[in-house]
This record gives sequence, structure tokens and C-alpha cells, in this order.
Amino acid sequence: MDETPMRARAVVDLAALRDNVRALRAAAPTAELMTVVKADGYGHGALPCARAAREAGASWLGTATPEEALALRAAGDTGRLMCWLWTPGDPWREAIEADIDVSASGLWALREAVTAARAAGRTARLQLKADTGLGRSGCQPADWPELVAEARAAEAEGTVRVTGVWSHFACADEPGHPSIEAQLTTFREMAGHAERAGLRPEVRHMANSPATLTLPESHFDLVRTGIATYGISPSPEVGLPADFGLRPVMTLSARLASVKRVPGGHGVSYGHRYVTPGETTLALVPVGYADGIPRHASGTGPVLVAGKWRTVAGTVAMDQFVVDLGGDSAEEGEEAVLFGPGDRGEPTVEDWARAVGTIAYEIVTRVGSRVPRVYV
Ligand code: PLP
Repeated sequence: MDETPMRARAVVDLAALRDNVRALRAAAPTAELMTVVKADGYGHGALPCARAAREAGASWLGTATPEEALALRAAGDTGRLMCWLWTPGDPWREAIEADIDVSASGLWALREAVTAARAAGRTARLQLKADTGLGRSGCQPADWPELVAEARAAEAEGTVRVTGVWSHFACADEPGHPSIEAQLTTFREMAGHAERAGLRPEVRHMANSPATLTLPESHFDLVRTGIATYGISPSPEVGLPADFGLRPVMTLSARLASVKRVPGGHGVSYGHRYVTPGETTLALVPVGYADGIPRHASGTGPVLVAGKWRTVAGTVAMDQFVVDLGGDSAEEGEEAVLFGPGDRGEPTVEDWARAVGTIAYEIVTRVGSRVPRVYV
């Protein structure tokens, strides 16, 4: 590892990521695995994570946008690759030319795919997305027969090959939620209809990380795992990463930029939302909301400094925040660890999510581009 001191860095443990991919394959042994690397690999760096996932046996990679998928192709990835979030004007043709599976939730997208496939002079690999109850993207059950029939006609014409039928859960991170069974039933019906209508998809898939970890009947032919790949639990209800043999991949740290004694009654940071209760030592952690630290972490965000958990004192600024060390001391340049696997006593991403009232997904995906990723 590069030990050059840095203001801040996010160390990304690719060996842990590879182990996590293997653990997820073992959790869904009858299905293929798609590693989801959208949003720059959930903040960990899409390319290195994609390569590591392939090495550990991910036969598919998934992204939200076509641009994200095209960047993987441009970097030399030749495996199965799917993107699912299209808007008019996106580079559909390039995605189809690059043999990237694209997704249609309705007739407009199917027709765009047909137009793009004609322009590209090749058959589009297209996956039909069913809204089985998430209420976000996906085709409603009532509109499904029409979408399937038109997709079948496009197959006959040779512009499209329907490679997948798929859906997404609303509440898989709340095991036992009644919507889960209802969505599974609807998915089976919609996938069954597509087959009876003559479609022969290579893969039917629904499961995200929580479903992969807790719901074997949702695995079908392929599981799409994002957050668990990075060693993070989808929710407290699902459990801890270690319960599933998963290891956190990212450690976020910064080096103290200043340590100083101040008297009691000293206002700290913008708005003076923290006032020192007595004479104390303040340490400056040089990362702020521009680096992804939630601004409302004031008074709650945990940081390991000088061997103990401290909380953010006062408002998080764009580039820095303060912690109150009380009677303890620290040196300038000493490491402050915001989160990591927890094995050195530091908080985890889940601790941050709980402390600031969000989900762990948001904490890691927001780590800013100004924070160098260091791969080990
Ligand atoms: N599939 C789709 C369509 C998604 O949007 C996502 C992420 O939000 C995933 C799979 C991966 O979900 P998770 O990170 O919970 O595994």
C-alpha cells in the first residue's frame, strides 16, 4: 500500500471484495452472479471493483446508466454487462453495438431499442422489466401482454433478442415483509406469460443483496448484488456483514490538520452549534461535506481519534470538521478513522448510517471524488 501521508483517503480492500463475491456466489449456488458497480462501484471505484469481481467469478456486471456500462467496455471488459436506466437521448446505439444488455419497461423503450438496433445494424440484447410491486420502473402487469407481444414481433424481425425478464424488490431489506411474497408471485406469473408467448430469456432475475442473502426462492437464474459486494449489510434487519461472511471493503480516514487547546465557552465552526463545555483540546479533521460527510452529522457522526470514538463537534463545513478530544491529546498528522471494518476499533459504515439517520448505501456512494481511492 502507498503509505504517503494524504489529507484523506479511502482504502479499498480488493481482496475483501473478491472474498465477498465468492461468499455471494456460495449464497446463491444455483444462480449466476451479477455484481452491481453503478455509481462508481458504490463509491469504491467501478473499474477496479469490476475487475476484482470478474476475477472472483461474477459472470455479469450491472450498472444504472449506459455510460457507466460503456466505460467498462472501453476499459476492456468483455463479459456479460447490463444497464437498466435509460432516458431519451442516452447512447442507446453505442450500448447495443457494445453488446450491452439494455432494459425496457414499456413500449417507448422497446421501440427506441428497435430503432437503435436498426441504426447499429445488429440485434439488441434486451431485457424486459416487470413492475411486480416496487412501483418505480418496470411494466405494469396489465400492460405486460402488449409489451411481450411487441417484443416477440421484434424478435421475429431480428432487431431484438429478449435475453432477460426481470424485476426488483421494494422491501427485501425487511425480511418477512408481506410485499416480498406478493412480488414473487407476480413475477412468476409475468415470467410464465412471457414464456407462453414464445420468449426464451437466458435469465430471469429479481434478487438484490438482501434477497440473495435471505430468500433462496428469489434467486431464479441470476442474482444482482450491490451493497453486499462491498461488505456492507443492506439493513440492520438483515443482519451484520459478518453473519454472511462478508468483509467491509472501504476504510475512510483523514490526517488531523490541527490540534489546539481552547478555553471553555468557545464556539466551534459555523453557527457556533457546539460550544466547548470547559477548557479542552480540539482536533481538525480535514474532510467535509464536499468529501461526502453528511452536513447534519454534527453531534452524531463517530470518528476514531487517539484510540477513542469522538463525535463531530459543531457544523460540518465543506472541507473540514472538528472533534473535541476533551482531556486527551493527539498529534497533527495522526490518523482519524471515520469508518472501516471495525477491527481496529473504528466505527463501521453501518454506525455512520445509524448516527446520521440514513442508509449505509448513501454514506459510501457519497464519498467524494476529491478523496483518493487507494487499492490494496
Ligand atoms: N438491481 C437494481 C435494479 C438496483 O437498482 C440495485 C441497487 O439499487 C441493485 C440491483 C443492487 O441492490 P443492492 O445494493 O441492495 O444489492
